[in-house]
Amino acid sequence: MPSNGAVIPHSRPTIAAEDVQAVEDTLRSGLLAQGHRVRLFEEAVAAELHRRDGVATSSGTAALYLAMRALGIGEGDEVILPSYTCVAPIHAIRLSRGTPVLVDIDRETFNICPDDTRRRLTPRTKAIIVPHMFGRPADLAPVLNIGLPVIEDCAQSLGAQYRGKPVGSFGVLAVCSFYATKVITTGEGGMILSDSPELLERARDEREYDRRDDAQSRFNFKMTEFQAGLGLTQLRRLETFVARRRDLAATYTLGLASTPIDLPREDPDIRHIFYRYVGRCPHARALAAALQSEGIESPPPVFRPLHHLIGGDTFPQTEEAAACAFSLPIYPSLTIEQTDRILATTLNALKVNAHQWDRFSLASSAR
Ligand SMILES: *Cc1c(COP(=O)(O)O)cnc(C)c1O
Repeated sequence: MPSNGAVIPHSRPTIAAEDVQAVEDTLRSGLLAQGHRVRLFEEAVAAELHRRDGVATSSGTAALYLAMRALGIGEGDEVILPSYTCVAPIHAIRLSRGTPVLVDIDRETFNICPDDTRRRLTPRTKAIIVPHMFGRPADLAPVLNIGLPVIEDCAQSLGAQYRGKPVGSFGVLAVCSFYATKVITTGEGGMILSDSPELLERARDEREYDRRDDAQSRFNFKMTEFQAGLGLTQLRRLETFVARRRDLAATYTLGLASTPIDLPREDPDIRHIFYRYVGRCPHARALAAALQSEGIESPPPVFRPLHHLIGGDTFPQTEEAAACAFSLPIYPSLTIEQTDRILATTLNALKVNAHQWDRFSLASSAR
């Protein structure tokens, strides 16, 4: 039991009166299924990501699946993705009958490793999925240089920037998720974005099943009007959400500066939005358990490396991240008191493990 107040959840949506009002207004309008609010939401997200247009969906996974369909991924086509990410892209690739090909991550950024990506290219490679993990943009330039279609997975990174431009504006396709605990939310929901009229048209067509001249296998991936209403008011506050996340991250970084933990860094050519505050230390599991026992939720930042689920090579950097990464609660509604409690509990857990930490400090300064 926590000795010090209520449980602090690892993530939470940020819902204000205007969000509630938007949903209520939509419900009272009498139009509940995909209509002009969905259209407005598509245009607003597309403008945010500097894209021609977007196609709203029922989830981020649905958007990833529509991305596969739009690119024509099928039997025998290989799609590259990093092992250290959410399992959703695997489902999108496999449902379209493609073959997922896993690659390792970069140690510093937790994102796809461009060198390992190049090593695993074959004549059958048709696309590369690049998730921007934890709100930190991946190193896109060398991946884009390969010349294959890149799908940016922005589920954790709305508002982040790479070389001064929003993530989601670089790949031939980008996908977003508006799941309950993502950067902005519609409860469940997603979007696929592009500048290509052909790809957008194919995604729009694959989103629905009705009024066709044949009975080819299709599905319904549409978003509702009240989800879009909520999405619009959430999107208006994106900058506020991001500013708050960055403030909280700065507080953690300051508070933990004198510890031997590897803290998340922001390089000059990126803007990190700190969807997660992910650090690294050899006793990550002990630290997470200590936080947990004090009522501070701290699950592993990635549930399970994907090569543990689907087999294949082992990936040293992914293994290291799975063993050593930990995640502190961070979201706009986190209070100063909660932040203080999280910092104090973390510092205390480090003191308890001090003899082990000394060894780690020596090891890391020798690196
Ligand atoms: C959440 C997430 C998804 C899936 O989005 P859903 O809306 O939950 O289907 C895909 N990729 C990444 C990186 C995610 O974090």
